[in-house]
Amino acid sequence: QHYLDRIQQLDPQFNSFITLDTERSLAEARAADARRAAGHAGPLTGIPLAHKDIYVAEGWRSTCGSRMLENFVSPYDATVVARCKDAGMVTLGKLNCDEFAMGSSNENSHFGPVKNPWDTQAVPGGSSGGSAAAVAARLTPIATGTDTGGSIRQPASFCGITGIKPTYGVVSRYGMVAYASSFDQGGPMARSAEDCAHLLNVMAGFDERDSTSLKRPAEDYTRDLNQPLAGLRIGLPKEYFGDGLDSEVAATVQAAVEQFRQLGATVKEVSLPRTRMAIPTYYILAPAEASSNLSRFDGVRYGHRAAEYGDLADMYERSRSEGFGAEVKRRILTGTYVLSHGYYDAYYIKAQKVRRLIADDFQRAFADCDVIMGPAAPTAAFDLGSRSNDPLQMYLEDVYTLSPNLAGLPAMSIPAGFNRAGRPIGLQIIGNYFSEARMLGLAHQFQ
Ligand code: GLN
Repeated sequence: QHYLDRIQQLDPQFNSFITLDTERSLAEARAADARRAAGHAGPLTGIPLAHKDIYVAEGWRSTCGSRMLENFVSPYDATVVARCKDAGMVTLGKLNCDEFAMGSSNENSHFGPVKNPWDTQAVPGGSSGGSAAAVAARLTPIATGTDTGGSIRQPASFCGITGIKPTYGVVSRYGMVAYASSFDQGGPMARSAEDCAHLLNVMAGFDERDSTSLKRPAEDYTRDLNQPLAGLRIGLPKEYFGDGLDSEVAATVQAAVEQFRQLGATVKEVSLPRTRMAIPTYYILAPAEASSNLSRFDGVRYGHRAAEYGDLADMYERSRSEGFGAEVKRRILTGTYVLSHGYYDAYYIKAQKVRRLIADDFQRAFADCDVIMGPAAPTAAFDLGSRSNDPLQMYLEDVYTLSPNLAGLPAMSIPAGFNRAGRPIGLQIIGNYFSEARMLGLAHQFQ
């Protein structure tokens, strides 16, 4: 009730929620109370959370921030949603996001932009902008997000919270509406690394309904929270500190690294030579996958269907033209182009090869260090409307976050400070495969 009251009172300023269902939330809360009274409570029983509207949840409107799914009520739960329910967590609502998770500012939502709680002139980042803003404004203690190219880390950075994208395959994608399936990964967003570790314990684990889910023994992601940092080797990629990086972000990240040095870490420069290729590679491969994934929205099976149409092709065309926003259309067109005969080898296959080389670069860097640190984004949160008419300018925002998704590596953003305008700045930590527990431990010990 406390959080529902706060949402009602404060969210009109931020627009972080798309759907609330007070009765449903309170019923879940009462069930959690009963479970606690009966002695069946786990660590998160009764803890409220909210889900990015990319996750489908039974009985909840599940929109993906799109007109296409504006009135779509899911008949089933995403695995992540089901696991949170099984843990006794209480769903507060569904959170705003860029349409189908495509964007870096949350301005691509059919339900309107989200405002950054630190400064409502600023964007919250995207695509998990509703998740980041709701946690930052204390409208929920914790939230789920998804990260295909930075959508957990960049909004976490812009809103001064902690978020982690696990190793690809750790969190089930079942019921997480697909954008670019070989990149998409769900993860927690919260006030602290410790809270993220607890939610990741619930979210992670093998799921036979996701063909890329990894079969591994269950882990306790809180296990390394207090493991000493002495001897930790930090790598700073020189390509992450070059042109285009805002000077206040650079100074804040350097100060954070200095603090890790004082906690016992050693620091050395490493190289990720293909960093400049991450944007073109991602913006070929992710749209290619998106164009295929989004073909299911055809006006027949799910969501929006045009009111008037002629033949079948006309029905598809009108339903999709009306249902999708401009950025989604841009990506479908880019994707079908790079997959088409005559361009496939030049773009799609070439980008797949570069993707492998980018992953190899990380493995060479990890020969010399345990974790990589750098900025999560080249700037702090920018003003609403300042980039929304320039897609290339928007894509540049993703320069530091895309590579871990191309390589499938875990990566997180933690709050590192503020710029002079009072907007938060995040530090990105990239680890080798399955090093989430260690990364959360570093983050936990950073003040
Ligand atoms: N900003 C990137 C994009 O627009 C990443 C989005 C994401 O991680 N879902 O595709």
